[in-house]
Formats: sequence, C-alpha cells, structure tokens
Amino acid sequence: MRLILLGAPGAGKGTQAARLMQKSSIPQLSTGDMLRAAVAAGTAVGLKAKTIMDSGGLVPDEVVVGIVAERIQKPDATRGFILDGFPRTVAQAQALDAMLAGKRMDLDAVIELKVDEAALLDRMAQRVRETKAAGKPVRSDDNPEAFKTRLDTYRTQTAPVSAYYAKTGRLSVIDGMAPVDSVSKAIDQVLSAVKA
Ligand code: ADP
Repeated sequence: MRLILLGAPGAGKGTQAARLMQKSSIPQLSTGDMLRAAVAAGTAVGLKAKTIMDSGGLVPDEVVVGIVAERIQKPDATRGFILDGFPRTVAQAQALDAMLAGKRMDLDAVIELKVDEAALLDRMAQRVRETKAAGKPVRSDDNPEAFKTRLDTYRTQTAPVSAYYAKTGRLSVIDGMAPVDSVSKAIDQVLSAVKA
C-alpha cells in the first residue's frame, strides 16, 4: 500500500501514520523526521535545513525530493509506505508522480485530514506541554511565531497539493477534528474501499 497523508501542521498526520504503521507494518516516511535526523547528525543537508525549519519555511524541493527518492529504494519500502509531510508543494507531487511512474508504481490513496485552523495553535501548545511533561526536548519550530509561518506556508504552498490530487480523483478528505479513534476508523474505511 502506498499512501499519502496531507494536512496542516498539527492536523494529526504523524499520529495516524504511526497507528497505520503498527497495523500494517508499512513504514511511515516523515520528511520532517528525516530532516530533523539530518540536523541532529550535522550532515550537509541538515546544516542547510536547520535555519529554514526553525523559521517555519520549506526546505528546497530538490533536497526533499532527493531524500524521498533515496528512502523509497530501501528494502522496507518495497511493500509500500505512508508518506507524512511530503509532498508539500505541487512540484514535489509532480516529482513523486515521475518517481513512481519510473518504477511502474502508483499511489493507492491520498488522504487529507481537514482541520479547523483556529484549533491548530492550541494543538501545538498542547503538544509542547505533553513533550515537556514527558521530559523530552521540544521541537525548535513548535513556538507561536514559527507555527504561524508554518500555517502560512501550508496555506500558500501545500493547500494546492490537495487540488492537484483532487483533479485526478485520488483525494479523500477526512474530518481531522474528530477524535483520534474516529479519524483512524475513517482512514481504514478509505483504505478498505481502495483494496476492494
Ligand atoms: P509539521 O508538524 O509542521 O507538519 P514536519 O515535521 O512535517 O512538521 O516538518 C517540519 C519542517 O520540516 C517543515 O516546517 C519544513 O521546514 C521541513 N519539511 C518537512 N517536510 C518538508 C517537505 N516535504 N518540503 C519542504 N520542507 C519540508
């Protein structure tokens, strides 16, 4: 199964991707996680990405496309993958289509978690509180200023990605404001319809 999860920052993509990964043993490919790992490791990509990520902007398409192209070649991705945080621009979506076409592969589903923007700032603040309570380090872009930029970036650059997939009938939209279990159920329904 090859699946894309779309949605604003804080929409719940990571939570749902982790649940799907547990159920289906298909890896969750989060470009945000991969970039944070590159930052932590101090690689060339990481050094380039850090300032951009901290401000809430987007890392250049060619960098992210390169990371994904490499990642989906790995043996654990042969049965499929759940993309979380990619594609974030129409150019990335086109690059992904070209990548998959080259491997004679297609996407099984593109699912957008639709959320009420007003709730997102609160969700971010909640995530920060939970992370702190668990004694874990808080993401450097989880602060109100960077979060506002992330939302703006989402609106201008990533929202058009949904339209891109809707045009070819590949998009399913789910209510991301529903409780986590209900969102998981709705995703399962979309996926079983695809498999049927
Ligand atoms: P969010 O919680 O905002 O969805 P992510 O963990 O997916 O955050 O991404 C964190 C940051 O990493 C983004 O704000 C951006 O700077 C960078 N990033 C992640 N994925 C991409 C991508 N596909 N294209 C460009 N930049 C990306």
